[in-house]
Order: sequence, then C-alpha cells, then structure tokens
Amino acid sequence: MQLDSSSVARAAELIRNARHIVILTHMAPDGDAMGSALALYHWLNDPTNDQMVNDQMVNDQMVNDQMVNGLMVNDQMVNVIVPNAFPAFFNWMPGADKIMVYETQTKACDALIEEADLFVCTDFNDPKRIGPVGEKMVQHSCPKILIDHHLDPMDFADVTFSYPQATSASEIVYRLIAALSTPHATRNTQLATCIYTGLMTDTGNFSFNSTSAELYDIIADLLRAGVQKDAVYNAVFNQYSVDRMRLTGYALYRRMRIYPEYHLALITLTADELDQYHYQVGDTEGLVNMPLQIADVYYSVFMREERPKPGTPRSRIRVSFRSQGDRPVNIWAHEVFRGGGHMNASGGELFGSVQQAVRLFEQTFPKYLKKD
Ligand code: 5GP
Ligand code: MN
Repeated sequence: MQLDSSSVARAAELIRNARHIVILTHMAPDGDAMGSALALYHWLNDPTNDQMVNDQMVNDQMVNDQMVNGLMVNDQMVNVIVPNAFPAFFNWMPGADKIMVYETQTKACDALIEEADLFVCTDFNDPKRIGPVGEKMVQHSCPKILIDHHLDPMDFADVTFSYPQATSASEIVYRLIAALSTPHATRNTQLATCIYTGLMTDTGNFSFNSTSAELYDIIADLLRAGVQKDAVYNAVFNQYSVDRMRLTGYALYRRMRIYPEYHLALITLTADELDQYHYQVGDTEGLVNMPLQIADVYYSVFMREERPKPGTPRSRIRVSFRSQGDRPVNIWAHEVFRGGGHMNASGGELFGSVQQAVRLFEQTFPKYLKKD
C-alpha cells in the first residue's frame, strides 16, 4: 500500500502553512484513535525529529502564550481534542495527559477550535462520529485533512487519505510521517509507541486483518525505534479492575444468548447491571469479541444501555457488531441501527430500552445474516 503522492504533497503544504493545528478523533476513542492522534501530535511537536514542517519554521518564533493548552514548537501549536472520555487503560500513552476532552472541557475546546487554522481528523469517516465537534469543524472555514481507513468517507476535507485496506489509521499516519520526514521521524520512541498501539488494537494484537508482510516491516521499524511491545500489550490489555473482570464473567454467564442456527451470539447489559459492577469507561471494551471464541459462533453482537441524558426521555442503546470471514455486519448496522463500519466490525445505536433493541435485533437478523 502506498499513499497517493499528490495528497501527501498537498497535506505537507497545509501543515507547513498552519499555526494552530487541532487534531480530532472519534467518540469513545479506541487504541487506533488514540494512537493515530497522538502520533501526529508528537510528530508535529517534536523539534528534533527532522521534520520538514518544523524545519520551515525555525526562523519564525512568534509565540502566543494565551492559548489554553498544547505545546508550542516554534510558532506552531498543536492540540488533540477527543469528543468524550477515553478509557483509563490509555492513560499511560505518551501525550495522553495533554488531550482535551470536549464533553468536559467544552469552553476551552471551543476556543481552540475557533482559533484553529488546520484540522487533522483521524480514524473516522463521518463528522457525526465526533459528536457536536463535527458540526463546528465542518462549518469552520479553515482547511482539513482526513486520515482514515473506513469505507466511503464523507467529502468534508481538503485532503483525504482514505485507505480501507490499511490495518488502522495509525498505519496511514506512519506512512505519512515516513513520506514527509527525513531521515526517520518514525524513530521517535513516543511516536512509535503510539503508532504501535493503534496497529496492535485495531488488529486484535495481530490476530485479524494483519496478514500483509508490509505490516511487519513497519513493526520492525517501530521496534528499532524503541517500542516495548510486550509492555504496550500489558498496559492496554492486562489492566482489568476486579469489578471489570466480574462484569465480564456476569455478562458471559448470565447475559449471553446463542442463536445456533445463525452462529450468532448476543450479550446485553442494562445501565442497572453496569452500575452493580461500578462500570467505568472501557470496562466492556473487547467483550463483543469474546463469543467469537466459541466454535461455530461467527457473529457477535453486544448491547450496552446508557441512561438518558438530562432532558431526554430515552436511554441510548449502543450496539457493537463483530463477525468472522465473509459475513458482513455493516449493512445491518447501517440499515437497522443507524450506524455502520467495517465488514467485520461495526457499531450503531437505538434510543429506547434494551428489550426494544433485542426485539429489533431478533426481527432483523434473519434478513442480514447467513445461516451457514
Ligand atoms: P465498536 O463496536 O468498537 O464501537 O465499533 C466498531 C467499529 O464500527 C468502529 O471501528 C467504527 O468503524 C464502526 N462504528 C461504530 N459505531 C459506528 C457508527 O455509529 N457509525 C458508523 N458509521 N460506524 C460506526
Ligand atoms: Mn481504526
């Protein structure tokens, strides 16, 4: 896979001319959202990385210390804004402490968004995937770059890197940095660690969508940059609280149904059930994949209730879909649950109760799923 060279040149031009860069990634950030956004952050902020962008700026030292957050290198200021909180098991990531969360730091984020003269968007194909920030970003007159690996990105950016065949947005970011920097900006350990995290999480620790030899060339480069791959695995996957482990047990034991004819599993968790286990953001991450470990289960769906937001009557049921092989779930997610995603990993939602969501699920799966 190679990035389109004219897009790379146009992105370079936009970055070179930008002073206030805001990096945006999707709601409920996962490892790839975090990794791709933070890798860009390190790249754009690191004065020692031989980066063409900062080389251009060495002579231009206007510093604006009015800004709310973010580092300034020469006169370029870079911030990462995420729509809502990310799981605590990403707190260790280099730069995570600099991330601004729109939901809880709305005013400060709005100020940064207003001041922005370039948006770099990663790991989403539709401004709706970043909540209220999306509308503000789209309406802002400044240029936008989109770096994404989902199908059919919306046409809102000036330069779009859309590679659905890529493992992750982090992989595309790696390729962009490698294309634009000399000799090897990707040898920065912090940056490389962020890229590695995105590759690792979006491939289930290299267990799916990860068969190309090229991927392992990238990984070799990241390891040479000093990435401690086993430590990254531990930091992301072996950080359960006791409550999270018990919630997982409860969900599998009490709340998993199997529809054998369709090789399908469903897990549901209501807000009350989540409360019993003191649910924290990220506690159900990966749960939807677990039923796929059962022989003859090829489809898995997980529903999680979020209580109604103040002033709204109904709960939001967040639905995650997973499948194996040639069994698309994204059309079902799109047509029935107002979502979408990749062929084997999609998401959607429904406003109502878990029972209503289950009813809709049971009414529609025979139309969308294969029996064999
Ligand atoms: P998850 O189940 O991990 O939340 O989402 C799995 C994948 O489905 C994500 O990587 C994303 O590509 C996609 N996805 C999740 N929710 C939505 C949604 O509401 N709309 C669209 N278009 N894609 C989604
Ligand atoms: Mn991704």
